[in-house]
Amino acid sequence: MSTQTMISLNPKAAKFISSPKNLFINGQFVEAVSGKRFETINPANGQVITTVAEGDKEDINRAVAAARKAFDEGPWPRMKPAERAKILLKFADLVEENVEELAHLDTLDYGQPVGLTTAFASSVIELFRYYAGWATKITGQTIPVSLPGEIFNYTRREAIGVCGQISPWNAPVSVAAMKLAAPLSVGNTIVLKPAEQTPLSALRLAELIQEAGFPDGVVNIVPGFGPTAGAALTQHPDVDKITFTGSTAVGKEIMRSAAGNLKKVTLELGGKSPHIICADADYESALANAANAILFNSGQVCFAGSRLFVEKKIYDNFVSDLIDYTKNYKLGNGFDPSTTLGPLVSEKQKNRVLNYLNIGQQEGAEMLTGGNATSSELADGYYVKPTLLANVRNNMTVAQEEIFGPVVCAMMFDDLDEVIKVANATEYGLGAGICTTDLRKAHKVAHALRTGNVWVNTYNLMDPASPFGGYKQSGLGRENGSASIDTYTQIKSVWIDLN
Ligand code: ADP
Repeated sequence: MSTQTMISLNPKAAKFISSPKNLFINGQFVEAVSGKRFETINPANGQVITTVAEGDKEDINRAVAAARKAFDEGPWPRMKPAERAKILLKFADLVEENVEELAHLDTLDYGQPVGLTTAFASSVIELFRYYAGWATKITGQTIPVSLPGEIFNYTRREAIGVCGQISPWNAPVSVAAMKLAAPLSVGNTIVLKPAEQTPLSALRLAELIQEAGFPDGVVNIVPGFGPTAGAALTQHPDVDKITFTGSTAVGKEIMRSAAGNLKKVTLELGGKSPHIICADADYESALANAANAILFNSGQVCFAGSRLFVEKKIYDNFVSDLIDYTKNYKLGNGFDPSTTLGPLVSEKQKNRVLNYLNIGQQEGAEMLTGGNATSSELADGYYVKPTLLANVRNNMTVAQEEIFGPVVCAMMFDDLDEVIKVANATEYGLGAGICTTDLRKAHKVAHALRTGNVWVNTYNLMDPASPFGGYKQSGLGRENGSASIDTYTQIKSVWIDLN
């Protein structure tokens, strides 16, 4: 693809990456105490985009101290809720003015097509507007207690304090925003550590936070690595709550660290989501749905529909048509307008996915399409083709472990009760899908699957108002909707003797 046909880089994004980036602590952009920096890499071509200050324990200490002071002494938790809402709304407006820049920074940093990164960046606007609405609607209750005498009892919902927020690389700007909007709306202060692979859009959000008028120290953004900056945040005794999106293994480690001062914990972890295609489904839309469920974001989605269960009557045709369908996807650089499938985020991630393909085949799965993208055009980036593994059994490694790439495991089923059992036979419980035109089947399956989200004749839908999270080892707690407000506030019961 010649460069003339590429979408040209937004000039503000070009300017943003033309200088080295720093940490955002107490309203200032600062170098790391150690002076260390790391490179952020474009996965479409392996080139360095810019360098970023590498936060470590000392930087986390500074950021937590700023957030602590902003919570304990600053105006943010004490501000009139309508004033807080106004700042959140101003921030949403600024994001709206800068959507293209934010989207382009994400496409540079993690490779996905501009259309997709634009949708993710736009979701930030709606998320902040939604939670700005919540700021003025946090109420307690008056409680009719039965004690003798005249006792008045009421509850208050209060902010928790300093929130340590750790975000992943697979939807950088939108997941970082999920770590900001809800906790800020109710008056918490934040230290956010974005993923080391994709720090750029979060650092641009930091500039918009400054511009929107958040008091200093309310939001601090400290890029750095997991075992250093991330671990320092989860262990810090002045942090009151941790919210983490990432792998289940790291989630368990975080829970152990959080035990030190009994931090409140919200975890959004891995998945191995079943997607059940019944013979009575609308065939064409089920094909599109099955492809979208696994190929959206190149399969780098915690709720990707990675275990595809197809009813026996249509299995052979469906699998062969799905393979044809996926041939319509075009792998390439996210700035090429014809690209519908970007690279994986890093060389490490690509190698991890290819390693799973080997393991799958060693265990007896058959790779009917896909694998490493070897064309010379894609040679510099981290590309994997849409991949379908057949002859998979649910107890194989590829059907049990999260691959986090464009790889679907196809399995056949004959009986709905049986497929529900197999679909539930995983340590995960994040997403699930069913395609059917039979309403009874749809509800039966939706109720029987032990997952936090079920999509019927659709997939991948999310909205700021609807709770999102996992059953079993896919997580703890919920983000979005009123559920998120619950996790970022605590209830105080106040007793007054009126005698
Ligand atoms: P992945 O393996 O897909 O990169 P991770 O769960 O390792 O996913 O990373 C998600 C986020 O968690 C990133 O911001 C990463 O830096 C952070 N992280 C990784 N390890 C730790 C850790 N031990 N403590 C805290 N954060 C961590």
